[in-house]
Amino acid sequence: MGAFFRVRRDGRGVTVGMQGMNTIIEKAIQTPYGLSHEELVALLALDETDELFQAAYQLKCRTIGKTVSLRGLVELGNQCAKNCYYCGIRRGNANVRRYRLEEDDVVRMARWCFDARYGSVVLQAGEIESEAHTAYIERILRRIRAFGGDAFGITLSLGEQTEEVYRRWREAGAHRYLLRIECSVPALYAKLHPADHSHARRVECIRTLKRLGYQTGSGVMSGLPGQTLDDLASDIEFYHAMDLDMIGMGPYLPHQETPLGRDIALTPEYAAAQLKIGLKMIAVTRLYLHDVNIAATTALQALDDRGREMGLLAGANVMMPNVTDVQYRKNYQLYENKPCLEEHSGQCRNCLNARVLSIGETINWGLRGDSKHYREQGNG
Ligand code: SAH
Ligand code: SF4
Repeated sequence: MGAFFRVRRDGRGVTVGMQGMNTIIEKAIQTPYGLSHEELVALLALDETDELFQAAYQLKCRTIGKTVSLRGLVELGNQCAKNCYYCGIRRGNANVRRYRLEEDDVVRMARWCFDARYGSVVLQAGEIESEAHTAYIERILRRIRAFGGDAFGITLSLGEQTEEVYRRWREAGAHRYLLRIECSVPALYAKLHPADHSHARRVECIRTLKRLGYQTGSGVMSGLPGQTLDDLASDIEFYHAMDLDMIGMGPYLPHQETPLGRDIALTPEYAAAQLKIGLKMIAVTRLYLHDVNIAATTALQALDDRGREMGLLAGANVMMPNVTDVQYRKNYQLYENKPCLEEHSGQCRNCLNARVLSIGETINWGLRGDSKHYREQGNG
């Protein structure tokens, strides 16, 4: 193990010794939000990560326990009005076969999660703002709520909407909402999106969701072209500033049919680097925020068959297995190399259980798995 770590911020070089690194980790464990920006950067810059991951994992065991919560992911449609430069189902990609699941099918998939004792479901799709779409989601929520009751968690991940739409969906039974900020630094956000995509509106949406009483989640992609460790440290500070309950982050993965990904080859070296920064973001976020839910996302598994287990061992506590019927999955490729394209939900359940047990953790079967951060603020 190297004794020194070189950290560069704004072109300045800082060298932190091994001893210093242990002190920073110790301070993070003692005090939530206790690290300075430079200290966050120093942790993100670590090359030798064993101690960082172990510390984050120990902290997760202490604050949350040796358990993993599940959310079944239903990819209910790939129509999208947006054109994010990194995403495979962006409006401008003409090679995607567009679909939207029938209401009955979404309810059936959610029912499958309920019967499989997953404890909660996530409904995710491209971004559509229309009355027809709002009412479709509303009807689905009411029907899931009718069999699941309050004990079954329902999360939405349907992009930016008006306050009125968020309110209607909350009243129809949604508990949680995931809206990634993608990158918290406006200048980088502007490089990754067309000019009419607004960082400010996204932040405002997150505020609205919180005000409406949703358990609110956000997150970023790590390893984006042009992104610095400084940016990533700012992302973690953003999570705190927004007082988020849940974090869903993943490494950026190139898609050949997008402006951002068309020239990036997913070489073994690139994959290893993306996996590493993805895992470091989980660990440093856990060390900084302590009590939030953090997902070990599928993007990690796209880079390594054991990527999600690695995420859990770096401090994550949530997994989101795909429960969408297999025939639709190939049309919902945000990035290439998406795993489990052919594996049906039943196989997935067994595989997941074995994976979680293999690292000495157990699944919170049948529990909603609310964020401890949300509960401790007198909610839920
Ligand atoms: N349309 C909704 C939800 C679906 S997209 C929304 O954007 O909020 C869900 C997430 O997929 C996005 O938030 C983004 O972070 C992630 N994503 C999209 N393209 C990606 C890529 N190429 N690599 C990794 N993650 C990607
Ligand atoms: Fe649409 Fe979401 Fe993809 Fe952006 S990231 S293009 S909003 S599905």
